[in-house]
Amino acid sequence: MYYYNVFIKNAASSFDSLYTYESELQLPLGVRVVVPFGRGNATQIALVVSTAHKTEGKPLKAIRQVLDREPIVTEDLLELGFFMHDYYLTSFNQSFAPLLPPGDIKQVKKSWVLTGAGRQLIESDTRELKNLAPEIIEDYAKRGLIKEQVSIETIGKVKTETLYHLAPDYLKMLQQSKKLTDKQMDVVKFLTAHSKGTQKDILSRLGLSSSPLNTLVKKGIVVKSEEEVDRTVSTFIPTSGHRLNVEQLQAYYGILQSTKPISLLHGKTGSGKTEVYLKLAQTVIKEGGQVVVLVPEIGLTPQMIERFKGRFEGNVAILHSKLSRGERFDAWRKIKNGEVAIAIGVRSCVFAPFENLKMIIIDEEHDNSYRFHNALRYDTFDVAAYRMRQNNGKVVLGSATPDVSTYYGVRQGTIDVFELKRRAVAGAQEPETYIVDMRSELIQGNTSIFSAQLQQALDATMAKGAQAILFLNRRGFSNFISCRQCGHVINCDNCDISMTVHKSMGRLRCHYCGATKPIPKVCPVCGSSYIKQFGVGTQQVEEVCRKLYPDKKIIRMDRDSTYEKDAYDRVYDMMKHGEGDILIGTQMLAKGLDFKNVLLVGVIAADLSLNIADYKAEEVTFDLLTQVAGRAGRGIMRGNVIIQTYTPENYAITYAKNHDYIGFYEEEIQQRKAFHYPPFVEIINLEFKGDTMDRVQSLAEVSLEKIGEEIKDFQVQHSRIITLPKINNVYRAKFTLKVAPRDRSKLLEVLNRVLEESKDYVKNNTYLQIDFKQ
Ligand code: ADP
Ligand code: ZN
Ligand code: ZN
Repeated sequence: MYYYNVFIKNAASSFDSLYTYESELQLPLGVRVVVPFGRGNATQIALVVSTAHKTEGKPLKAIRQVLDREPIVTEDLLELGFFMHDYYLTSFNQSFAPLLPPGDIKQVKKSWVLTGAGRQLIESDTRELKNLAPEIIEDYAKRGLIKEQVSIETIGKVKTETLYHLAPDYLKMLQQSKKLTDKQMDVVKFLTAHSKGTQKDILSRLGLSSSPLNTLVKKGIVVKSEEEVDRTVSTFIPTSGHRLNVEQLQAYYGILQSTKPISLLHGKTGSGKTEVYLKLAQTVIKEGGQVVVLVPEIGLTPQMIERFKGRFEGNVAILHSKLSRGERFDAWRKIKNGEVAIAIGVRSCVFAPFENLKMIIIDEEHDNSYRFHNALRYDTFDVAAYRMRQNNGKVVLGSATPDVSTYYGVRQGTIDVFELKRRAVAGAQEPETYIVDMRSELIQGNTSIFSAQLQQALDATMAKGAQAILFLNRRGFSNFISCRQCGHVINCDNCDISMTVHKSMGRLRCHYCGATKPIPKVCPVCGSSYIKQFGVGTQQVEEVCRKLYPDKKIIRMDRDSTYEKDAYDRVYDMMKHGEGDILIGTQMLAKGLDFKNVLLVGVIAADLSLNIADYKAEEVTFDLLTQVAGRAGRGIMRGNVIIQTYTPENYAITYAKNHDYIGFYEEEIQQRKAFHYPPFVEIINLEFKGDTMDRVQSLAEVSLEKIGEEIKDFQVQHSRIITLPKINNVYRAKFTLKVAPRDRSKLLEVLNRVLEESKDYVKNNTYLQIDFKQ
């Protein structure tokens, strides 16, 4: 007998565990099986994830049926699933689900078949069984005459279409048959020229009804066949590479020869990073390896895909969430079968089931979409690094503004860095960047959202018939308090981040440590009463623009207006073809846009991102401003960038103006160290949710107490318990831990026990969720 642990996706039980079964057959790991699960005769489809030992006590149930000949998840990836489970304390559902092929492993078709005994006694064949009355079926089943069988061969569906072509001996048949009509002759000629086609192709090209085609099929001159369709095929324009310049060559050889598992390609937009990725990919493929390329958001990086497809033609699969399930399955299948050697996609593409994955490239590595958050129960870097350790491959990170923690790795010597300092194409000039102090605008009596300088620049740009982008680094209203007179923002004294207005309490509160303060009536610094909640939205900017420039075409793009699948592409095309004059939008504009006729970029209020209640506020602002600046003046004429702010002296703004990443990094890393933020500690949030505040509070208290007792000897700080606003009738509370890297694993052990004990609360619908914040 063999014993296996299996994973059942979304198993009904609220407890998360693997289940052990026995089997007479020795099975490879990663295949799907049918197992008895739950009451009576119920079964489930499960994935075999590890071998097990027989335990004393309860007898084990047996695996009923094996569904796959080949594993659908490789052993490497199963190991990765266990790694995520242990490293983030995520449930098996959370850690195994991303490894599974697109589609539903629980999709089942059940039918009854005769057993050996049944075949001797019952006359009807298997096909007729489904027509029998349920009582009879039940009776047969009890007597062991029939058994249930589950059938599914593939997880996703392969799409096929019917193609028409000429029969191999059609010439002979033409001679034997009666003379064809003109229309039938047209079909034959079409098929001689095109060899095959769908009914729709043929009939629409020839302008015919279906009858001539059907007659030809009846005569046997034309035959039908079912063929697989690849839903992911798209057109591409082949392109050849550039000869790398000296910096690019140094980076290329440096990365290949580096003895460190992670390399960072640090270069501003246009410095030729993508060209280096392409060359690296080529080399890896030549040696028989495969490459994954990760991008932040697929819709925003059409150029990246175009270039990879142009260079590698059909050897590329694209994986992202906007694909239909069928398209995703086709892409997955091509990767699994080794039909392609490159996969490009968003973060989840890091799980691409390549057999010999040798390089993972993470473009725009500073982007937040790669990091652990509510919808993503892993950090893309940890996963990439783990996979490359397994396969002895390389992680390549690329960015103009590397994540501060990444650059810390460079300074610590764990990551090799390669700089691209120049733009790859000569001629394009850096835009001129101006900072406007909005406090003095106020003093001069200007309360408009546009400063005099931005207004003038907009007028001039519109008069020239050029385009402008107005940028709000957050969508709408924010909940920090700031003084319009002197720019002062109310921060937490312990945590150095802005405090948040807490409506029901009528006070300001810190997200991190839970400290509160009254909402001030006058500015504690300058005494002005012009201190209030800060807010300006894209709609408001749009309204002002429409009033100012009634004849100009104004486009607004934010999460609301680009909700539809292709809205982004439409906006992109409109700007590209000069159909829009002013484009107003949020973060999204900072990525991937490259319009030659944009001469002005205005940042309405840099303060909006500078004061988000997050230790990364400065970093996020620096990144955004740097990227936005890169959007101007890509063409022949020199562009301007105007940044409006109430705190022009903030280092995120001044270093961004001077395009000085290193300067920014040096200052930021000091702050991180002083206030205990990553990379010096890891932040772990424990969030408690439930039906009643009492139980949520009680679970939080019990957990904090237990942690408090056990962490005395090591470097862990904890905040007090903070209650959060109720969402959808779910009560919530949380507290935060900060742990030094060297004590992480010890803390995990404690957390594991806390998590285990929290399970007593599950029956009362009260849960603990642990979030790792980068
Ligand atoms: P990044 O990825 O850093 O933004 P790209 O690789 O897209 O930079 O390069 C920017 C532009 O310069 C592209 O149009 C690219 O085709 C071109 N380019 C890149 N490398 C070279 C090179 N060595 N010689 C000439 N042009 C280059
Ligand atoms: Zn003030
Ligand atoms: Zn605080």
